[in-house]
Amino acid sequence: SKTYNFCAGPAALPEPVMLRAQQELLDWNGLGVSVMEISHRSKDYQELANKAEKDLRNLLDIGDEFAVLFLQGGASLQFASIPMSLLHSGREAEYVENGVWSKKAAEEAARFGKVNMINAVNIDENGIRSLTDSQSWNRTENPAYTHFTSNETIEGMRFSQVPQTNGPLIADMSSCILSERLDMKAFDLIYAGAQKNIGPAGMTIVIVKRELFEQMKFDGLPKVFNYEAQAKNGSMLNTPPTFAWYLASLVFDWLQEQGGVMRMEELAKQKSQLVYDCIDEDDFFTNPIAVKDRSMMNIPFFLKNESLSEKFLIQAQEAKLMGLKGHRSLGGMRVSLYNSVPLEGAQALVKFMREFKTLNG
Ligand code: PLP
Repeated sequence: SKTYNFCAGPAALPEPVMLRAQQELLDWNGLGVSVMEISHRSKDYQELANKAEKDLRNLLDIGDEFAVLFLQGGASLQFASIPMSLLHSGREAEYVENGVWSKKAAEEAARFGKVNMINAVNIDENGIRSLTDSQSWNRTENPAYTHFTSNETIEGMRFSQVPQTNGPLIADMSSCILSERLDMKAFDLIYAGAQKNIGPAGMTIVIVKRELFEQMKFDGLPKVFNYEAQAKNGSMLNTPPTFAWYLASLVFDWLQEQGGVMRMEELAKQKSQLVYDCIDEDDFFTNPIAVKDRSMMNIPFFLKNESLSEKFLIQAQEAKLMGLKGHRSLGGMRVSLYNSVPLEGAQALVKFMREFKTLNG
């Protein structure tokens, strides 16, 4: 029997990708050495890098008006380098808050400039959390930009619609990129840490509209934070995370073979619906997010009888369902259903949940 990995990140990678990486580990591209052991400026590596960018553009339908960057520092560095370059001249940025990560992004930005933190969550008398209507938000009239987190990984909350703004729109898509189609026209900058839907930890993808460079100031910043210079240099101002970039390129190949982002979106709906149906069928399990705002990638859930949580987690692990322990700030359980988790994984989990319910209900 197979192990299914529901970790929130670093997370599962597609098995065919791992097998191919293993096969090529000591002899990549017929060079007789590993892809880790060669110069990022070599012809072979440049071809790989260019192909990865082309494939990502193809997967997300990203036009030439955007630069696509493969950077280091994680999504958390973007929390800082976005305000460091865009939040100047006494202007204010809007940060839409609906969970831990959007709050962290806002707090980091507030170290560099003026921030309007907009609480976008309502909690009703039963503890159910929902996103409020943007009409009710206390908006900034002419924001330097508006930042939001498309999918809150810890709370399991998703924006199914992009917030309206009259400034540039910036999205942290760390835990949902490549799982649903995007209308790129709505965005000015998208960033995502790689370690969920893209590849291993150590790389961050930034998709930035070239026009936005005109509003950025890079004076006094480390050169590697200069988005425009990174774009001009093919993300190679210095040594990029070559192995993570290589694995991402294999993931992009795999995604295209699977039918692209449209197929991933269908599967994400299917997998998450299986789990939500199981949670909602009675009150043995609960999920505290309003149906309209539920994440397709991360589903936190709790046992009504909390004293059974430990037993649930131990037995799940024995059944080879791993990574289900909830985030330390919330407790309970969380299942992450990134692209690499097959439908069979969600089915196996739901089967286990129902059996556990029958034996312990
Ligand atoms: N944003 C979101 C939505 C995340 O889920 C995470 C990590 O889980 C981060 C940002 C932070 O990413 P990193 O650890 O790459 O800085």
